[in-house]
Parts: sequence; structure tokens; C-alpha cells
Amino acid sequence: MSTNFVRECHSPLMTQEALKDAIIYKLKFVIGKEPYIATQREWLESILLAARDRIVERWLATNRAEYSQQLKQVYYLSMEFLLGRSLSNTLISMDMYNDVTQVVSDLGFDFEQLVEQETDPGLGNGGLGRLAACFLDSLATMNLPGYGYGIRYEYGMFKQAIRNGQQIEFPDDWLAHGNPWEFPRPENRYQIQYEGHVVEQNGRYHWAETNDIIAVAYDQIIPGYKTEATNTLRLWSAKASDEFDLQIFNDGEYYSAIKKKNESENVSRVLYPNDSTYSGKELRLKQEFFLVSASIQDILSRHWLMYQNWDNLSEKIAIHLNDTHPVLAIPELMRLLIDKHQLSWQKALVQAEKIFSYTNHTLMSEALEAWPVEMFRKILPRHLQIIYQINEAFLQDISRKFPHDDELLRRVSIINEEHGKLIRMAWLAAIICHKVNGVSALHSELMTDSLFADFARIFPNKFCNITNGITPRRWLALANPDLTTMINSYIGHQWLIDMSQLSELKKWVNYPEFLEKLQHVKQSNKHKLAHFIAETQNIVINPDALFDVQIKRIHEYKRQLLNLLHVITRYNRILANPKHNWVPRVVIFSGKAASSYSAAKKIIHLINDVATVINSDERIGCRLKVVFIPNYNVSLAQKIIPAADLSEQISLAGTEASGTGNMKFALNGALTIGTLDGANIEIREHVGQENIFIFGHTIDEVKQIKQGYYHPRWYYENDSELKQVIDQIANGYFKPEFPSFYQDLTNNLLYAGDQYLLFADYRSYIDTQEQVDNLYQNSLSWQYKVANNICNMSFFSADRTIQTYAEQIWHIKPIIL
Ligand SMILES: *Cc1c(COP(=O)(O)O)cnc(C)c1O
Repeated sequence: MSTNFVRECHSPLMTQEALKDAIIYKLKFVIGKEPYIATQREWLESILLAARDRIVERWLATNRAEYSQQLKQVYYLSMEFLLGRSLSNTLISMDMYNDVTQVVSDLGFDFEQLVEQETDPGLGNGGLGRLAACFLDSLATMNLPGYGYGIRYEYGMFKQAIRNGQQIEFPDDWLAHGNPWEFPRPENRYQIQYEGHVVEQNGRYHWAETNDIIAVAYDQIIPGYKTEATNTLRLWSAKASDEFDLQIFNDGEYYSAIKKKNESENVSRVLYPNDSTYSGKELRLKQEFFLVSASIQDILSRHWLMYQNWDNLSEKIAIHLNDTHPVLAIPELMRLLIDKHQLSWQKALVQAEKIFSYTNHTLMSEALEAWPVEMFRKILPRHLQIIYQINEAFLQDISRKFPHDDELLRRVSIINEEHGKLIRMAWLAAIICHKVNGVSALHSELMTDSLFADFARIFPNKFCNITNGITPRRWLALANPDLTTMINSYIGHQWLIDMSQLSELKKWVNYPEFLEKLQHVKQSNKHKLAHFIAETQNIVINPDALFDVQIKRIHEYKRQLLNLLHVITRYNRILANPKHNWVPRVVIFSGKAASSYSAAKKIIHLINDVATVINSDERIGCRLKVVFIPNYNVSLAQKIIPAADLSEQISLAGTEASGTGNMKFALNGALTIGTLDGANIEIREHVGQENIFIFGHTIDEVKQIKQGYYHPRWYYENDSELKQVIDQIANGYFKPEFPSFYQDLTNNLLYAGDQYLLFADYRSYIDTQEQVDNLYQNSLSWQYKVANNICNMSFFSADRTIQTYAEQIWHIKPIIL
């Protein structure tokens, strides 16, 4: 699929001398510093601005080409974009990485140290936001015309620290030093309305006496890898509306006017730190509408500028909704087309149905957005009307097609009448969007079997699967330069834009020399991580130990606690049998818990307490160490993943929609221990079942267990190792100063149903971990499986994912440059 891409850069290559001059110029005239007094951060900023200049030319050229070619555009609306740092990624995209490293070292700095100074923008919680970032990378790399739209939160995901074993949260003031990557667009501003009421006049509706906020655009360039094409991520920031201020100023209320101004700017103040749970807060609803209203107004205004015509709207634009968070875009588009641009209801509806598509990210009920009708009536009264009207028309249609089925009508109504009138956002998406996709084969199947079963019957062609992917640029080229160099030496570097070429490596998997090289790269990455952990955590780990890694959001369904049950079991076994030849292990955890999620916070606390006891138990020595690395983010993931031997993907079957961490690990040569959940199933199919450690109950077995009577106590009473571990946790072995501290946690497992079936999967997990140890003792056999993972990962490129969206959902074509 790479053949139609331009792969050579046409812009004249900058000489290193010119590059150096450009950097010093920036330092003097943009930062305003002499080289001899500039700080590391100021040098970094100068480098970054010099690099940015090179890419602006491409950006402007791409924008010109887009206008002149009048291609269909996709707009990707997402409340989260978890980009990670940009400098290195921009440099590899521009093929400038080596030159810049050289120049920086001529200037007397270590480039690797310098890039650590770059802020990591954390405008997302986890997988969903990171997926959006991978998609932007793939869209640009494949020359596809796409915009990202999101919110420029003043504070991103909180910074996590651990004190006395507990998570504490600090605000992430990521804009403190400014953001050199963004281009403020003060002239691109839109009025965002809230509250007020709806006035009807001659059959037309007007939303009046609203409280308004201004949305101002900030643009960031998204470079494509070794292509002239770039895309734009446009983030909205809230500003108080001027008119709104004036009125209070005139009343002589200076201080309260400023206070009101600050309050109205709260809309883009902070990212909600909930992953996979619905917050239900009014401010969150306002944030979602803020994103949607600004973006739709912007999209419509760009379209009108180009075409002065609404009839071709759906031929020229596709709008994708990343989960239900931006689903308000549907009634907002309808409102603007009908109330402002005077289209008929029917015409607006037909356009909306062709324009919108939606990705479902979870089936868990606690994550499904359902807003109280009364909250809507207050904040978005016109949208409530539109939703009611969509619902009425839909239900009428259904009662004609499926007569006398009141139960069905009740189930598919957007308004859930059972729990005090809630608006089901997923239902609105399922009714209007022309395509709804899940994110892995299993998830998509469950989606049409459970959550959307009725809708799948009503709209048989609407639902599809598009399995997630990751960008090999960030997750291999940037994160793992040694492995990249090694792969390049065997098959060249085209695989970075065409991951199917990784299969060329299959020729080599039987050669011990190839496997030894793989082992050597891994060992070197492990040394680097051991160094980092020594420096930041003050824990010495054995780089020859098996590095067993679980890094992701802390959530009960992801079962970090099951991992911990294994850690404690292993600890007990070593103590009981100290003479045995144990395979040394370092178990690494990292991840944030939502600040309001007390069960998840307690799991973090327990991990740290267990780490303290085990790491200081001299009887154990270097045979087992437990490390919790605080403040998991993209930069940390890039450091940890290349050093992992074992990837923990152990969610209860049926709970993880896809996962993308699982793909990053396998691509970087870690073996997976996992359940048959999400994309693990497809990873198994691609790498071969002999090259992955699968354990635990399958989805069908889980369903059966949950339908019958599940007795976690039975497992506890009949498995002496499990009993010992649970008793230790419950009796304060890991918290002698407060022995009953973890009893709520163990009681929850023993007496409150063990919702995520830890006990039911415990034994097969422990036994499978033993197989892991056995294999690890034979380095060549281990690396043989590693090699088979790497060369079979091509399917999991985000380029494949985006290609599928482009062909099957968006119907967009590449820009010609
Ligand atoms: C990839 C990634 C995730 C998603 O990880 P899962 O294991 O799929 O949950 C979350 N956070 C960051 C920083 C990531 O890079």
C-alpha cells in the first residue's frame, strides 16, 4: 500500500552549519538570550523552533494542496489526544534526527538529555487518547486529509507521585513554559452558547438569552513520516465572552466581573481524569458541547468558504466521533443547519446520517454516558428538542417496522425512562451514524450481541469491526532505536511505512545469530531501564532477571490485583523453597488511578506495600523485586516497553475492548501473558498460539460462571496457596502498622462476588507463569518466540487501521503533493 506515497523529501536538505545558525538565531531573537547564559530548556526551545520552521513550509503547502484539490476531509473529534513529546517525532519525520543530534553535540549538549526537558502534553487518560494520537500520525503519513479537533485543557492528566505507598495527585501545569508547538489563532473564534431558552417564531427556532463563551483555536502541526504531507490538530481554548463582561463592568462590579470571567473559562481548565467511567458532571457536559460546537461551526464555515453550498456537505466532509463524548455534534450540526442556515429538518437529517460515524470503546455500563434530561433542559434546551424529535421519528419508524413490540420501543428509545429520564448518548450515535465500529474482533461481536443487539437487527449493515493499531514510528523507531537499527540491517527501513514488510524477517527466525542479536538489543534496553529505575526509584534491580511488566491505567477490570496475587505467591514459594533454582524476576507496575476511584487507589497502595516488604526481605535477594514507577505517561511508556520481557494483558475476558499496550509490547519483543480478551485474541492468531501465553476463562465460560452461582470462597478454601496469599493481605502481613487495612479489599473478593473473577483465574495464571519461567531459562527458545512475535505484528499497524477507516467508513483519498 506504500507505493503511492512520496518517500523522498524534496525540500533542500539543510546543512548542519545552517541548522546551527538557525538554532542560535532562535535563541537570540525569539528567546532573547546569549548562548553562554541560556538554560538547557532555552536551548531545547530554540532547537524545537528551528525544527518547527522546517515543517511549516510543508504545512502551508499541504493546506494549499487541500484547498485546490477540494478533496473530502475527515474530521476526528475527540475529547482526548495523548500525543506525547513532539521533538524527536518531528525530527524523524523530517529525516533530520541525525543532523540535529550532531549539531546539538557540537554545541556541547547531549541530545538525549535535552529531549527529556520537553514537556509531555498529557491531554488524555489512556488508550482512547493515545489511539487518537496514533491515528493522526497515520493519517498524515498516508497523505490523507484529516483534521483532529480537541480541547486545549489548561491542565492535562494529573501528575502522580507516591507518598507512603499512596497515590497523590499534582496539577499538570503543562503550559507553564508556554507551548512552542502551538500556533494561536485568535481570529478563529466562535461563540459557544449555553442555557437560555428556545423561542419559536413562524415555525423557526431561535436559542435566546444564552450565556456565552468564546472558543479560540490553537493549531499544532502533525507531521507525516517522510512525506511532504502534514495535518492539523486544532485545540479549543475557552475565553470569556466580551459582551458578557461589559454588562457587569457597567454595573461597577469590577471584581465580580473578573470572577465571572474566570468561571466561564473553567470549561477548558482541566481534563476529567476518569478512564472508562462516566462522570455525570455538568461541567463535563459543558466541555463536551464546547468541543463540539466550536468544531462544527469551524467545519461549516470552512465548507461554506470553499463551496458556498450546503447540498454537497456530505460529499466533502466526514466527521468521526471518538466514543460518545462528542456525540452532541449530531444535534449541534442539525441545529446550525436548520436554525442558522435555514435547511429543512429532512435535509439536515439526511446530511447528518451521511456525515457521522462513531467508534464504540467500551461495553461496561459504568462507562456509558447517560445525561439527565433535566441537565440538558437547563444547559442545552434546543438540543434537547432536537434529540426528542429524532427519537420520536425513529420510534414511529420502528413501530411501523416492528408492530406491537412495546418492549423493543422501550429498549431502543434514546430516552431511558427507567432511571429518572436519561439521554443515552450511545443510542443517539447508533441511530444517526451511518457506521458504528468496535475496536477488536471480540469487542465488535460482543457489541452487536449485547449493547447494540436491537440496533444491529434494525440496521444490519451499520455495524463493523476495525481492530485498533499503533504507529510503528513512535512505538518502534523512536522508543527502540537499537531494535530499529537491527531490523533495518536485515530488511531496510520501508517497514516503517509498510509494516507488512516485517514478515520479511521470518527468513531469519531460525538463525541463532539473529536471535542472539535480538537478545543483545533487549539486554541493552534492560540495562538502560535498570539505570533509570536506580536513579529515579532508588531500587537496584538485576538486569538479567525476567522483566515482567504491567503498565496501564489502574482499573479493577484490568486486574493488577491478580498480578499481585502471583507476586505474593512467588514470594511465598521462594521462602518455602529457598534452595530451588528460581528464575529471577523484576515485576514492574505503572499507572494512574482516577482520583475518585478508591478501590483502584487502594490497589496502588497495596502494590507499594508489597514492594516494600519483598524488596527489603533479605531472604529473597535479587530473585524477586517489585517496582512501581510513578506517573505513567507516553514518555515513560517509551522507556519501559522496549525493556520488557513479559507483557501482562490479563483483563477478565470480555472487559478490555481492544488494548493497544499489548501491541506495543509484542512489537518490541516482549512475550504476552494474557487472557482471551480484546485484541489479545487477534495477536494470538497472528503470532501463533505457541508464541503467546494464554490463560484463564474464555468469554463463554465467564458468561456461564456469571449466570450460575460463582463461589469465590470455594477457590479460597480449596487452593492452599491462594488461601495463604489472601490471608496475608487480610491479616496485615504487608501493613503491620495497620493490619486490617486491606480487609475491605479481600472481603470484596471473598464475600462480595469477586466481580472480575480473580479467584476463578488464579490457578491457571499461576501455572502459566511457571511455563514462562521454564521457557525463559532457555534463551534461544525464548528469543525464537520473541522473533515470531515481531515479524508477525504487521496487522497491528495504525496505518492498516486508518486505511480501513478511510476505505470503509470515511471514503477519503490521499492528497496529491
Ligand atoms: C498505550 C498506552 C495506554 C493504553 O494501554 P492499555 O494497556 O491498552 O490499556 C495508556 N496510556 C499510555 C501512556 C499509553 O501509551
